[in-house]
Amino acid sequence: METRIGFGWDSHVFKAGVPLRIGGMTLEHPEGLAGHSDGDVLLHAITDALLGAVAAGDIGTYFPPDDPRWKDANSVIFLNLALEELHNAGFRIVNIDTTLVLAAPKIGPVAGEMRVCVADLLGIDMDQVSIKAKTPEGMGLDHVAQCHAVALVERTIEADELKSMSAVIETQRQLEDVVEDLLSSVHGVPKKRTIAPVYDTEDIT
Ligand SMILES: [Zn+2]
Repeated sequence: METRIGFGWDSHVFKAGVPLRIGGMTLEHPEGLAGHSDGDVLLHAITDALLGAVAAGDIGTYFPPDDPRWKDANSVIFLNLALEELHNAGFRIVNIDTTLVLAAPKIGPVAGEMRVCVADLLGIDMDQVSIKAKTPEGMGLDHVAQCHAVALVERTIEADELKSMSAVIETQRQLEDVVEDLLSSVHGVPKKRTIAPVYDTEDIT
């Protein structure tokens, strides 16, 4: 069984007047994390760990910070894309381990709830998700939240199986195109409208 690891790291500065979003939860705190999106430092680090495990780039590859569409975006969108990339590459999560580094608020009392929340978002069990927290002692970074994440993943679909699966899908698509072309040319049946993806694929490099 092929296994791989991925590592992710992220940081955001605290800012008054925005909600504090960590691990997909909103925490009681006078300040939130500044960022182009909702600033969820934990989900961003996990997103990069998952993308890294299958060498699929990083969060900025798919969601450039200067793109107005991702302003105040819910970071679950980023996590879902990373999960999709992971599954498309034929892998699933074995476990995730994370360490948050922040002066406040205390994560310990909500860590259990946060593990359940993150596990739900990833479609795995709570015991596959670890969330630890430390204070940035001696680093002079009391106004910053950082997060480190590692992900262990294992292959569920063999590489050649994956190749033949995508070949079958491609053949089916080609067949559908031929049938649609025939129908539209013979009977004037309008072609099926293609559904636009949630993100602009031109932005994916
Ligand atoms: Zn971030």
